[in-house]
Amino acid sequence: MNYTNKYNIPEHICSWLAADEYDYLPGVYSATTLISPARAFILKKRNAENLTMDYSDFIKMRMGTAIHDSLEKIGVYADGDFKEKRFFAEIMGCQISGKMDAVLGGVIRDNKSTSVWKYVKKEFDDYIKQLSIYRWILYRNGINTEQYAFIDFFFTDWKKSDAEKSSDYPQIPYQEQKIDLLSLEATEELICDRLEEFTFAESVLPECTAEELWQRDECWAVFTKEGQARAKKLCKTEEEAKEYASANGCKHIEHRPGKAVRCGYCSAAPFCDQCKEMQKKGLVDLE
Ligand code: SF4
Repeated sequence: MNYTNKYNIPEHICSWLAADEYDYLPGVYSATTLISPARAFILKKRNAENLTMDYSDFIKMRMGTAIHDSLEKIGVYADGDFKEKRFFAEIMGCQISGKMDAVLGGVIRDNKSTSVWKYVKKEFDDYIKQLSIYRWILYRNGINTEQYAFIDFFFTDWKKSDAEKSSDYPQIPYQEQKIDLLSLEATEELICDRLEEFTFAESVLPECTAEELWQRDECWAVFTKEGQARAKKLCKTEEEAKEYASANGCKHIEHRPGKAVRCGYCSAAPFCDQCKEMQKKGLVDLE
């Protein structure tokens, strides 16, 4: 891994940001790897020597780790069944691993430090898969847990002013969220499907799907006049936007393409032709 420092972050902070405490084991698929795109996994593996990340890319992740370390240091999980332990299970000749934050009273708990919009939009699909894989691994180790889990959300971009405007917005920068997990059978099927995809991807590199890309829908923003910062309405089609504009005396319509959000966070982007093609069409925002 190579590092850049585009924002002149002081050296001691860079050392903290780049400290890698992840206990990576070659040949083992972690739960988080299994839910990530096969294309990204293969490209990163093929270009491991040339992967480059900026120190700033680690800030959010390290803030999440800091919350995590603090919870552990204070001993909030002291009464848990266990905490911070990596478990392994074997299937289709592969090792699958998962390191859950804690299991309290037979219920898996995971901390997530993330954008408030992930919570507001209820974008929990990846979390459901990840925590279901944890539950399956525990089951394979003789530990039964409930078919639901709790996520402790800590929001990195929470704003008091937004909380005052909407009751749907979390009223504090923390929320507990219960999620229903997949059955053990469905989880095993998911793991087997993913392993097949990863194996196949070694010979035929697949494209990332719209779901994997966290692709947003395109829309048409209607403004009272050109140059305004905030749109009056976002429409799903051009026709709808034109109708709204003529009925409401609006003079300007702007097309907003559906962006592939994940590419902006993917360290495989410099080696990815799919990403480069989407970038040419204005569908990817990279720095
Ligand atoms: S850069 Fe985008 S398209 Fe390429 S592997 Fe990563 S997420 Fe997929």
